Amino acid sequence: MHAMNLLQVFSHSSALAANKKRLHYCPQCGERFIQTTLQQFERQRCERCDFVHYLNPNPGVTVIVKSPDGKVLIGLRAENARYGGKWCLPGGYVEYEESFIATAHREVREETGLALRIEGVVNVVSNHLDDQHHTMVVVLMGQAAGGKQHPGDDLTALQWIDRDLHLGVNYAFEADQRILDCYFAGNIKMLPIDGRAEKRWPAP
Ligand SMILES: [Zn+2]
Repeated sequence: MHAMNLLQVFSHSSALAANKKRLHYCPQCGERFIQTTLQQFERQRCERCDFVHYLNPNPGVTVIVKSPDGKVLIGLRAENARYGGKWCLPGGYVEYEESFIATAHREVREETGLALRIEGVVNVVSNHLDDQHHTMVVVLMGQAAGGKQHPGDDLTALQWIDRDLHLGVNYAFEADQRILDCYFAGNIKMLPIDGRAEKRWPAP
């Protein structure tokens, strides 16, 4: 069992991964970009239209879905998916048209078939997964609240796990493993979600 600290930063690649995200031409006007340094980071700027290609991590959510007896639902990633053949918590990227709360409801529904009753925020993690993917993930916790359980999206199987099963799982993401280490050690605190937030932008 690993340390029970609720760690917030997982780095499996360096800041140099940003090199892979460079663009050569301005997406706004087509001019060739010049390199520039902005707030100490190397970025590209267009001399014709002043467009700057900022680089930011992708925001996402991941959800600890609990059963009434404290088990947690994990999904097996399809062989042809990124990190295929390994297990993960349900979750995904926040779309521009939705709040992170709406994302949690949508992703849990798409990936598990279940409705979700969110209880709170348990963590936020920065995750340099590899040279192509840097995410910033809000970790939520909630209960399954109806629906018909079936794997969907990039998941091919679902399993409810207790602490013993958790120890043998091959996780796709170190963050998921560490978060569940803390959960099964009883070391999770929650920031509650305001009921009004659930009803906004768009309603679940
Ligand atoms: Zn331009």
